[in-house]
Amino acid sequence: MSGLRIFCVANQKGGVGKTTTTVNLAAGLALIGQRVLVVDLDPQGNATMGSGVDKRALENTVYDVLLESATIAEARQRSPKGGYDVLGANRELAGAEIELVKLERREKRLRQAVLAAGADYDFVLIDCPPSLSLLTLNGLCAAHGVIVPMQCEYFALEGLSDLVNTIKQVHANLNQDLAIIGLLRVMFDPRITLQQQVSEQLKAHFGDKVFETVIPRNVRLAEAPSYGQPGVVFDPASKGAVAFVEFAHEMVKRLG
Ligand code: ADP
Ligand code: MG
Repeated sequence: MSGLRIFCVANQKGGVGKTTTTVNLAAGLALIGQRVLVVDLDPQGNATMGSGVDKRALENTVYDVLLESATIAEARQRSPKGGYDVLGANRELAGAEIELVKLERREKRLRQAVLAAGADYDFVLIDCPPSLSLLTLNGLCAAHGVIVPMQCEYFALEGLSDLVNTIKQVHANLNQDLAIIGLLRVMFDPRITLQQQVSEQLKAHFGDKVFETVIPRNVRLAEAPSYGQPGVVFDPASKGAVAFVEFAHEMVKRLG
């Protein structure tokens, strides 16, 4: 495999596992020798904190990068345990939404910045906020593909159509590279019949766009962020960690 791959982890719903997917895929890829940058595009800064970087202590964040007052090389931090770099975010980023509107190339700011830092990485993973906002649009314009984490619940498919339509529009108007790389089933509990049924529906609808790897519901993944570590590093033997490392392998294999 060669060349930089830039992926958004997106789903307009909150609490579906975007951040958990971003930091654990990053740590999993790092573990198998890939050079990874995580871009936190959510003002909540969960990917930043979950990588062990204190969002309150940052001098420069993705906000400064979007407004072009800092480069990624200047603003990035090293995740102390994760084995990857982080372009952090905090509440300040919520203001970028308003400030960007009046600027030129407002959707392409992140793309430009990421490409400038591209030689340092094999993968850039962008953790999107739970909205289809100008921030998410910056993520989608920068990316080659979108990874969509989903819980196998009754309304999962319904919510997906808005995201799929947005991706189609961005593809048509702003970024012809953009594609859905795949749907990742997360927080999966095989004992729940409904989840199995929705999982089957997903496969029937989306075929090989559904990743083979399934991420189980696993409390160690939920505990890890409070230790400032991805679950993959915090408890490598846990089921959740093992699944994310498997997912990292699947990604690399898929990209050939
Ligand atoms: P999002 O970024 O989409 O809002 P998060 O990744 O923050 O979602 O996940 C929402 C909550 O669910 C968090 O508390 C997280 O720790 C927990 N969580 C995510 N994935 C799992 C999992 N596979 N097993 C158990 N808890 C999980
Ligand atoms: Mg999140």
